[in-house]
Amino acid sequence: AGSEDVEIRAEPVETADGTPIEVAANVGTEADLAPAADRGADGIGLFRTEFLFLDRQSPPDEDEQYEAYRDALGTFPEGRVVVRTLDVGGDKPIDYLDLPEEENPFLGERGIRRSLGPDADLFETQLRALLRAAGDGEGKLSVMLPLVSTVEEVREAREVLESVATDLEAAGVDYAVPEFGVMIETPAAAFLAPDLVEHVDFFSIGTNDLAQYVMAAERGNSRVSDLGDYRQPAVLRAIRATVEATEGTDVWVGMCGEMAGDPELTGLLVGLGLDELSMSAVTVPQVKRAVTETTVSDARDLAERALAASTKAEVEAVLTETTR
Ligand code: PEP
Ligand code: MG
Repeated sequence: AGSEDVEIRAEPVETADGTPIEVAANVGTEADLAPAADRGADGIGLFRTEFLFLDRQSPPDEDEQYEAYRDALGTFPEGRVVVRTLDVGGDKPIDYLDLPEEENPFLGERGIRRSLGPDADLFETQLRALLRAAGDGEGKLSVMLPLVSTVEEVREAREVLESVATDLEAAGVDYAVPEFGVMIETPAAAFLAPDLVEHVDFFSIGTNDLAQYVMAAERGNSRVSDLGDYRQPAVLRAIRATVEATEGTDVWVGMCGEMAGDPELTGLLVGLGLDELSMSAVTVPQVKRAVTETTVSDARDLAERALAASTKAEVEAVLTETTR
């Protein structure tokens, strides 16, 4: 069905048997905010802040960032806005940041590695802007770190956040400490999920990078796109291991990679135990509808069968059986 014939639901949805699933939008530019609200997103599950830094000669200052984060919060006063700290490097270059020449940029200095290294000043400025925006009281702001692969990175980033809070306090500036989470998009993070869970309020699974790294198949390289697919059983098992680590804790777990926006997979993702799905605004209505049409018991059964598959073809067969 085309997206135009799907009803837009402005309110949060739950499965047919009453489990709420948050359906949020990914935004890449300021222009994405209004359409996200128009399509009925409950909030923003991934605010890619790179766009604030692109197409200019120097980084945005604290006030400019503060305004941008406030705009996002103002668009979703009832929802949650998950802002990812600057994720440059790999496939995301920014000229004035002087990124090193690397043989394998996807395995190099990118995401949180830069924020705790050469871009430490930018990281601090961004966190100041975020804590100030969180302090305005409108909406619910969450901060998320990209490309985490060790517990130390999370501890160190939190220390920076705490020192920023101390500085704002001392200066008498209004602020609040936002919810704090990490993207699970490296195999290391998926394996370490039971340890990382002690240090965060939430996980968000980035299947674009997770599939790339689990399968050692570069994203965007069409020669290996069949391999780097999120329907690969190894990717499904990495997702399940991540979700499992949150069970019995207060940590919520979402997904903000492309996989989350595929309405054919909504049942599977509910069955794998995800609490939140975040996607391009276009597919929000279809995914909301798919949530209301599934039950957790059917979804779990589906997930169990998909997790037992040993090939991508078997995963696909399990999926077609149930969507027919
Ligand atoms: C991901 O890797 O799945 C993700 C959501 O982040 P990005 O696509 O921006 O790398
Ligand atoms: Mg990513």
